[in-house]
Amino acid sequence: MKTNHSKALYERACKSLAMGVSTAFRKAVTPVPLYVERAEGPYLYTVDGVELIDYALAWGPLILGNNHPKLTAAISDQLARGYTFGLQHRGEAELAELMVEVIPGVERVIFSNTGTEAVQAAIRIARGFTGREKIVKFEGHYHGWVNNVLVSNHPTPEQFGLTVGDVGGQPPTEFLLTLTCPWNDLDALRKMLETNKGQIAAVITEPIMVNSGSCMPDEGFLNGLIEMCSEFGAASIFDEVITGFRVALGGARQFFNLQPDLSTYAKAMAGGFTMSAVGGSAKVFAAVEDGRTSHFGTYNGNPISVAAAKATIQALSEPGTFDRMHAHGNAIRDCIVLEATKRGIKVVTSGTGVAFHVHFGLDEKPRSYRDVLKADAGTGSKFRTALLELGLYNLPAGRWYVGAAHTEKELQKTLASIRIAMERL
Ligand code: PMP
Repeated sequence: MKTNHSKALYERACKSLAMGVSTAFRKAVTPVPLYVERAEGPYLYTVDGVELIDYALAWGPLILGNNHPKLTAAISDQLARGYTFGLQHRGEAELAELMVEVIPGVERVIFSNTGTEAVQAAIRIARGFTGREKIVKFEGHYHGWVNNVLVSNHPTPEQFGLTVGDVGGQPPTEFLLTLTCPWNDLDALRKMLETNKGQIAAVITEPIMVNSGSCMPDEGFLNGLIEMCSEFGAASIFDEVITGFRVALGGARQFFNLQPDLSTYAKAMAGGFTMSAVGGSAKVFAAVEDGRTSHFGTYNGNPISVAAAKATIQALSEPGTFDRMHAHGNAIRDCIVLEATKRGIKVVTSGTGVAFHVHFGLDEKPRSYRDVLKADAGTGSKFRTALLELGLYNLPAGRWYVGAAHTEKELQKTLASIRIAMERL
């Protein structure tokens, strides 16, 4: 694949933009961080003139694909009327009503800008509501880049069972109130809640561990977590930054038919624009309304982002949208397993049709980050590179996102490319 112009731009950027990329995760995109000239529907066009089917969707947000006409129209319409007010506008209530209508059990929302912010807001609300300080998170789960949650996201085997910062510059005093638990293990969670009785404000989980291998929750795990939180007086938080408006219109709450106390939303919520939210019951949000805690942000409820979110949710509400996306992704997963098995290559896929991972070298779907580490990352990377050369772009570590813009045409090209890529392994 041609990458000369991307390479040159990356070298240029490295001279003034620290790391050369705007978030450390993008450094992992091999063979070189790719530069995009333009994008349309399910396609990206690089500065080297290469057309790629986009199965990365900007790491999740582009649920409607690139440059969706309805989204562009909604934003243009708002742009003509102003782009930020620092005052209220009609769209805020309209979007809040829409979220309350489509997300089961959500009676109140607040708005913020990024997933990182929504997680922090949710933790503060849980603390305000419970009057407690400690939080529990799970090994392998990512909840944004703030010190109190950027712990034990990708621990080494020596670090299993500890709460450790993931990057330099994280003073341990800033995550003293964070406890880390292995995922899909209700006994371990119970032990932690018992040992810290009366002190845990919240237990936060990705309902599907998309960030580290798209591991699914065991039958009964999420429900058990919610019930245990209620038993111990802690707030349950689903971090739906990825799953929200993705696995179903009502996110994991709808997909699993469960109602935690709070959930966070970002990414797919506004189809590619900067927007996030926390949703939950009126009872928990009373802590914000009666002044036990509060919420801030200059850009919260920004009219452009609100217009984007409303248009995205309305477009996603069209009947059949989620079934079509899941079917597209599941057809890819089935093809990968079939073509690998034919050639005696061991592979499993995990997750759902709209967000999944491909793991080579495993006999069973991984249930935790520790299982994910046992996969053959080398073959995974070779497979991804082979697909990239054939015009398919998915994320490092074998992560795929499927959106509403992917059609039968892209599916047929993808399935054919998978056959060729398997042959090249
Ligand atoms: N929570 C989850 C589950 C996420 O996947 C992410 C981003 N990958 C975040 C929080 C942080 O979101 P953002 O990058 O928008 O700050």
